[in-house]
Amino acid sequence: MLTPAEAEAAIAAVLEPVAQEDQALAATAGRILRTPILAERDAPPFDRVTMDGIALYFQGGKRRSYRVAGVQPAGTPPFGLSSADECIEVMTGAVLPNGCDTVVPIEQVDMRDGQALIREDYQPERGRYVHRRGTDASKGAILLAAGVRLGPPELAIAASAGRAQLTVSRRLRVAVVSTGDELVEPGEPILDYQVRRSNSYGLAAGLELAGYAPASDLQLPDRKDIIEETLASALGSHDVLVISGGVSAGRFDHVPSVLASIGVKQVFHGIAQRPGRPMWFGTRAPGKAVFALPGNPVSVLVCLARYVIPALDLLSGAPVRRPARAVLAREFAFDAPLTCFLPVVLGYDPEGRAVAEPRPTGGSGDFISLAGTDGFVELPCGPATHRAGLAAPFYRW
Ligand code: AMP
Ligand code: MG
Repeated sequence: MLTPAEAEAAIAAVLEPVAQEDQALAATAGRILRTPILAERDAPPFDRVTMDGIALYFQGGKRRSYRVAGVQPAGTPPFGLSSADECIEVMTGAVLPNGCDTVVPIEQVDMRDGQALIREDYQPERGRYVHRRGTDASKGAILLAAGVRLGPPELAIAASAGRAQLTVSRRLRVAVVSTGDELVEPGEPILDYQVRRSNSYGLAAGLELAGYAPASDLQLPDRKDIIEETLASALGSHDVLVISGGVSAGRFDHVPSVLASIGVKQVFHGIAQRPGRPMWFGTRAPGKAVFALPGNPVSVLVCLARYVIPALDLLSGAPVRRPARAVLAREFAFDAPLTCFLPVVLGYDPEGRAVAEPRPTGGSGDFISLAGTDGFVELPCGPATHRAGLAAPFYRW
């Protein structure tokens, strides 16, 4: 059986990014940029004043008094000095007036009768409060490379480059599919022997928070013919199916055989891990991925964060988010020859290191005890007593 790292690599090996599309700048937050963004002009595009004050020609810093020859607001063409005993009143963001090289903040100046007098206790410095043209980037430089996720700084940079439209990966069409005759929707009457349909809500929340809100939420009975018809049609209209339940070895676990019959090629079935051992993964093309997760709610959430979200990053052309690391707050014994995914609450020690406080569940069906946890750590293959202080990859729910 594959290890988690092997399973992750096997998934990555068969996926390719989806197509790209042009989008209005304002609609691209969280999307993946597919073509680089180049500087439209030098940055800053002119010698930029960074303080409200007076602009002057330095001349060794001896002169204290200047005649105010004009006012230079932001967004106006540059004034010029006609003599070195003049200054120009300037505003933050204005072009430095021609002939000037230094700005003195307004707080350091007494303005009286058209004269600016620099306060005695202030010594101007040549070039101070001037942001020189091109010091941040030159025209044509790559400001954003292809593959970056467009967050707040990236959107501001793209706007500064004058781009009203960006080329980004198109949105993934993800379907969440629950299987099981026992499942009943929240809000509907329920019998003693039935189970609330909860996985689809956990999956949808995890997908949405990662930027992959599902397009569909399908519910299937444990009937081969219905599963086959629905999955075949869902595969036609989605890039990714995230199925929960029906993937183990039970008599009514039809999902693997149905997927094979509709042309989804199995990449693996089973990972040496707990929870989530029966996980199945296959593809029908490099851009069509099917994750069939065991129905137990803890398994579903672990497999989503550990495998599905990183795969969706790859499909959308993004660099995979590497997990953070956290150290185990206390010893944890695990008796199986499997990788252990251990739910934890995250805290910080006095040095600021992330510390993972174990919150083991009572099995992969006990998801009530996940309330208040932050995610899980991945502990090396057991059986082992994992020592306190062990640094382990941490995955957030
Ligand atoms: P399965 O993998 O289909 O054998 O399901 C394993 C366990 O998970 C069973 O106890 C199911 O009732 C439960 N389960 C399966 N799907 C869901 C779901 N969508 N929501 C909540 N529990 C589920
Ligand atoms: Mg089932």
